[in-house]
Amino acid sequence: MIPRFKPYLGREEIGALVQYDVEAVARFEGEFAQTFEAQHAIAFPYGRSALWTFFKATGLEGVEIIMPAYTCVVVAHAIILSGNTPRFVDITLYDYNMDLDQVRMAINERTGAIVATHLFGYPLDIDKLTEIVQEAEKHYGHKIWIIQDCAHAFGARWKEQLVCNVGDIALFGLNISKTITSIFGGMLTTNDSALAEKVRKWRDTYFMQPRVSKFIRRLIYLLAVYPAFDEKLYGLVQWLQHATPLLNHLTKAYHLDEKIHFPPDCMDKMLAVEAQVGLKQLGKYLDIVRQKQENARYYSEHLGDIPDWVLPPLVAGATYSHYVVRVPNREGVSQVLLRRGTQLGQLIEYSVPHMAAYNQYDFGQDFPNSYMCSQTTINLPLYAGLNNRQRERIVSSIREEFADKCVSSAIAGRPKQ
Ligand SMILES: *Cc1c(COP(=O)(O)O)cnc(C)c1O
Repeated sequence: MIPRFKPYLGREEIGALVQYDVEAVARFEGEFAQTFEAQHAIAFPYGRSALWTFFKATGLEGVEIIMPAYTCVVVAHAIILSGNTPRFVDITLYDYNMDLDQVRMAINERTGAIVATHLFGYPLDIDKLTEIVQEAEKHYGHKIWIIQDCAHAFGARWKEQLVCNVGDIALFGLNISKTITSIFGGMLTTNDSALAEKVRKWRDTYFMQPRVSKFIRRLIYLLAVYPAFDEKLYGLVQWLQHATPLLNHLTKAYHLDEKIHFPPDCMDKMLAVEAQVGLKQLGKYLDIVRQKQENARYYSEHLGDIPDWVLPPLVAGATYSHYVVRVPNREGVSQVLLRRGTQLGQLIEYSVPHMAAYNQYDFGQDFPNSYMCSQTTINLPLYAGLNNRQRERIVSSIREEFADKCVSSAIAGRPKQ
């Protein structure tokens, strides 16, 4: 079975597991900063820990943080757990990013920061965002921080400019489902030296060195990833996952408990072994992005005429963490393709303000686009390492099943909304 995603790991990463270097985390930070043309990079155990620490280190508390309604829920968790309030903004159906006109209207005297997410690798219009923020700062007389959430958008550019370098900080996630991985992990980058100093000091004071047992768990986890994502074994792995709790940790990136919380190791320092793997991945980063861009182009060229499917746009400067399609009957489509040996992803199958944990807050509005996407999106395997045979097989399965309108509506069954 072709898995919905797969980390791009080779022999180098296994080699990295046995190299011992106490300076690995510092080296990873240095090379990460260089790769993304930032002055400073600071490593964390998760991306969410980086965001939470930014709020703590800058003393941002009791303010509103503007963020998209359709994004990874851990961003909202970090905002709430740091004593702030998320202020959600709906997305556009064009590229799934925040609607900037709604951002302009959402800003008020309590706004402390804006999380500008570049979802699925699509660059948000950072020129317009900067202009909106500068205007608002003048009007309200206080700083509004710009946080670039680049967890999906490694290297994404808006008009030639790296989006991670505009604004105050950028966040990156580094678990095995991200563009590059350090097993787990997250990174904060900034060009503001005083801010970097503060964040680093906060982390060094309050984050703990994990025990040896965590090092061993990470080692086993990474070694298990190799066979687990093998095309020949993946069907078995999926069965084990559904029938037993053995592998929950491996293929489920997030446990979406209806509860606002962080994992227990969220205040651990990054392990040297994670940084070693991250360093190897950084070396492959350009190749990974190039392959993802090429795969996205391939799908767009071959699937543009499937009735009722809305393909994602091809955008200059996008780095395509995922290739996300809106379809009329997501479950039906997923089942049909699973039978034909391809697993589709349902990456963000929730709209954050609609989640049970967020029901207790009254946001005073609906987020119809976010809700709609939470119900209709699938993503096709786009990973680096997907070969021609696999790509062709995915495309021909889709074409055979769905290119003909009569067939597709018969399978879809349910009426369309
Ligand atoms: C993955 C991700 C993060 C960070 O997630 P962690 O699991 O905490 O590393 C942040 N924002 C988005 C949009 C993400 O997809």
